[in-house]
Amino acid sequence: MMASVTAETKTMDCLHFINGKYCSSVDHKTFENINPATEEVIGTVAEGGKKEIDLAVTAARKALNGPWKEISTQERSKIIRRIGDIILKRIDELAMLETLDTGKPLWLAKQLDIPRAAYNFHFFADYMISVGTEAYEQDNIAINYAVRRPVGVVGLINPWNLPLLLLTWKLAPCLAAGNTAVMKPAEWTPMTATLLGEICKEAGVPDGVVNIVHGFGPDSAGAALSEHPDVDAISFTGETSTGTVIMQSAAKTLKKLSYELGGKNPNIIFADSDLDEVIETTIKSSFINQGEVCLSGSRIYVERPVLDAFMEKFVQKTKELTVGDPLDPNSKVGALISKEHYERVSSYLKIAREEGGNIVIGGKRPAGLDKGYYLEPTIIAGLDRNSRCVKEEIFGPVVTVLPFDKEEEVIEQANDTHYGLSATIWTNDLRRAHRVARQIEAGIIWVNTWFLRDLRTPFGGMKRSGIGREGGMHSFEFYTELSNICIKL
Ligand code: ADP
Repeated sequence: MMASVTAETKTMDCLHFINGKYCSSVDHKTFENINPATEEVIGTVAEGGKKEIDLAVTAARKALNGPWKEISTQERSKIIRRIGDIILKRIDELAMLETLDTGKPLWLAKQLDIPRAAYNFHFFADYMISVGTEAYEQDNIAINYAVRRPVGVVGLINPWNLPLLLLTWKLAPCLAAGNTAVMKPAEWTPMTATLLGEICKEAGVPDGVVNIVHGFGPDSAGAALSEHPDVDAISFTGETSTGTVIMQSAAKTLKKLSYELGGKNPNIIFADSDLDEVIETTIKSSFINQGEVCLSGSRIYVERPVLDAFMEKFVQKTKELTVGDPLDPNSKVGALISKEHYERVSSYLKIAREEGGNIVIGGKRPAGLDKGYYLEPTIIAGLDRNSRCVKEEIFGPVVTVLPFDKEEEVIEQANDTHYGLSATIWTNDLRRAHRVARQIEAGIIWVNTWFLRDLRTPFGGMKRSGIGREGGMHSFEFYTELSNICIKL
């Protein structure tokens, strides 16, 4: 099977996983995998394209109509549960791989990414047992009932920020609903996805049900998957602009789509809120995972009477965040994913200065860290509401702070964006909390918290932040098709 990470060298070569076996690309093409914290090569990755996607889709189609179909719901649930169990058993190894690939702190991978990946399987293993359908009596004329069936072969295209967490958030319901999958992990983070192949096999997933093809997006494995005529649906998490391109390729065969895209999420702080609680959570919603979180609350709006008090505490707590080696348990913030991304995020600091912004803290590479894509957590104030730093998704440890005076004014500003993923509202006024929450144009709204998840709830964005919702029943709506059967009495 797969040689996983070696403790001494912390390296791993990644192969595709097709029809239950690890394999190289047909032409043996590979690309290098870089650790963003050290800039060192930590392995090679098989570079797949159309040929490998064809093989994976063929295997997935065969398994869909073969062994996977034969397995009872109870048995499928047990297999899915076992995947979660094995993930937990291998948590140390998976967390290390996630950290080497992404540059995120090891403690975070261990606390958040890997346990949640396991929970995705445990949750859907339970949930799938209780999923039902509808039935209607039409007087004495007819009865109607709906049956639910898998949508088919599903392509899962994944991002690099929470690699295993987001991949399993798709794979678990996809399998629970009886589908087979072809996954395309992000090119920057192939390691944990690769191990998932052997984990699924050990759990009892039949060959061909789960396939993994590595490679790039445009003109590569990603494009081949999204335009493949025998793929029935695509679930994609990534940039809004990529979503547009995938939609165009998927349109040729009218694939079902589920999208979770970018965000520029408002974090609204009213003067009556508990500032210590606000600061503690705002530090997380701004800088956890180096700010590389689609839900990150990167637009902070503060009611003017508490602006100074907020800024003083927020700056102080930001100063206390240690940036550095992801393997060091004291590091609160690790490295950004890649050189290109580091440069892109840094370009916004230049833009902020040009736009007349005041970089209150951060804005540069931390002293003493010459290697690795490290950037200090950065707070920008004094910007105009229409500046690019306030409007565009930066996807790094960079937040903007703007004051506001009136409730209506902050609602209007919060909604003044093409995005609509999430929002946080801080207030102790019950009526205001409900009133404001109902007016914010976002798929996920938190009051006095952030990133508090119940996997039964609808998760996803409106406007250009997504299409559809996943979570609980919503995942089943996407990963299944309904047929209504009408019986004349
Ligand atoms: P980022 O730029 O942050 O990596 P992307 O949206 O480009 O975000 O990438 C998310 C995922 O989408 C990755 O797995 C990537 O390879 C894939 N991808 C990028 N472009 C395309 C495309 N044109 N078709 C299909 N997949 C793509």
